[in-house]
Amino acid sequence: MGVGHSSVSLSLDPISIAAFTAEPKPKPSCFFNTHCKKSVFPTKKNSLFVGFSLKFESLNCGKVAGEMDTEKGIDVANKSILDFHGIDDRLIRKMEFDALVWSSLHGLVVGDRNFQRSGQVPGVGMVHAPIALLPMSFPKSHWKQACELAPIFNELIDRVSLDGKFLQDSLSRTKKVDAFTSRLLDIHSKMLEMNKKEEIRLALHRADYMLDEKTKLLLQIELNTISSSFPGLGCLVTELHRTLLNEYGEDLGLDSKRIPSNTAVGQFSEALAKAWTEYNNPRAVALVVVQTEERNMYDQHWLCTMLKERHNVRTVRKTLAEIDREGQLLPDGTLLVDGQAIAVIYFRAGYAPTDYPSESEWRARLLMEQSSAIKCPSISYHLAGSKKIQQELAKPNMLERFLENKEDIVKLRKCFAGLWSLDDLDIIRKAIDKPELFVMKPQREGGGNNIYGNDVKETLLQLQKEGSEEDAAYILMQRIFPTVSPTILMRDGICHKEHAISELGIYSAYLRNNEKVIMNDQCGYLMRTKIASSNEGGVAAGFAVLDSIYLT
Ligand code: ADP
Ligand code: MG
Repeated sequence: MGVGHSSVSLSLDPISIAAFTAEPKPKPSCFFNTHCKKSVFPTKKNSLFVGFSLKFESLNCGKVAGEMDTEKGIDVANKSILDFHGIDDRLIRKMEFDALVWSSLHGLVVGDRNFQRSGQVPGVGMVHAPIALLPMSFPKSHWKQACELAPIFNELIDRVSLDGKFLQDSLSRTKKVDAFTSRLLDIHSKMLEMNKKEEIRLALHRADYMLDEKTKLLLQIELNTISSSFPGLGCLVTELHRTLLNEYGEDLGLDSKRIPSNTAVGQFSEALAKAWTEYNNPRAVALVVVQTEERNMYDQHWLCTMLKERHNVRTVRKTLAEIDREGQLLPDGTLLVDGQAIAVIYFRAGYAPTDYPSESEWRARLLMEQSSAIKCPSISYHLAGSKKIQQELAKPNMLERFLENKEDIVKLRKCFAGLWSLDDLDIIRKAIDKPELFVMKPQREGGGNNIYGNDVKETLLQLQKEGSEEDAAYILMQRIFPTVSPTILMRDGICHKEHAISELGIYSAYLRNNEKVIMNDQCGYLMRTKIASSNEGGVAAGFAVLDSIYLT
């Protein structure tokens, strides 16, 4: 049986981003140093936003308009400016001004770290999100490839999540040395003991890729199964870039129709609304689990606003500590928070150790997992997205354990970079010899945790010396080297010409109720662009800016 794509058509709406650490650790060398983390477009008549010409609905997601292949399109492509650093300074100033006004008027904003309350109170201390002034070129063939992979990965993660023994066994060594993963596994074990079944399963993923310049291979960086961020702001960046090209495209030799439309936030809200409908309690609401401070709150508010305006589903925002205080489980499994029944739990927190400063937060996570509410993600989906599982799945014959369709397996394997556990002595020797060709990753999310360059060598030598089991905390990954492009990046109202590399994230949604797959779609995208000399890539963590793509 093949993967049950409800749609693999590239005319689907593309989507947006991933998770970012609670406590970003910008490096001193990091140029972009803003907190921002992990949108939306109401269509109803009474919408607050109806005055804006945001035509997210009408955009033809994933597809570049027909003109692209016409003579005119080719002409435009031929004279396009690929080197953005060659653009006339006066034109840059005009676009910069327009971009800043547009971002302010359309909610392409994050909390400004210079304002103390900007992470707590909406409407206080906002600054435009860090963005690229113009879209990054990206080959159409690789774009299509990334979109086609989305429903296959959705199905794979679902199958993996059902194999509790595989998850526990694969992470058993990690468990001994990584307290955070160990706590997640404990909750998972409890669910296995209780024989807890998640009949309705909802996923809002983002798969991240880099295009390796030398091999021209699209290689997966990771798959985010929890807190995939920027579905809201990502869509807005796409709209901003289209707007700029509609205005200045002639001067630049660029055609706005080559930017694929992005309806990530629309499709994410649709998936959440469909899950809410499956839960079948009209009085229940969606619970958004948030961090105590969240400068990326507007990205989340876009999604919740759309859920309300398009689908009439209400949300409540609660921290893990609040859920512990106000949460209650009824005998039938219903989760009440502050007396309110919860249909769907959408996590925008809970992926990092810093989200669990005390036992209270862990109690809240367990309480939610025990309930009948639909979790996005469930503990098993969360674990299935860990880096260790990514590495296990890359082993020979592993995909065959979960998927039957041979073509799907070939497609997935093609995007796997080299991935190894640290009990592979041969690869350890190679990594010590040429550390610049590897990235060392612990079981963490949110950016700023990986080890690069000479630190790989030093950490490996140290681990060898200690001879402990600490090595099980990490995996090794082949380092990917994308093409370096001249770009213009904006932060705090100022443009900077930089040489940069990019990472493409493809959003996807998956919803099933028992045997019925209700949604399995690619849902939009998020390009993140960072200066070439930076190792890490998180926008929230201050390393990257939000971008869109220009298909070539
Ligand atoms: P996190 O869960 O913290 O986001 P990632 O695996 O996505 O962890 O790594 C963080 C960043 O590090 C990525 O966004 C990317 O910029 C960079 N990175 C990760 N893996 C690689 C790799 N194999 N080659 C090159 N850069 C990488
Ligand atoms: Mg990442």
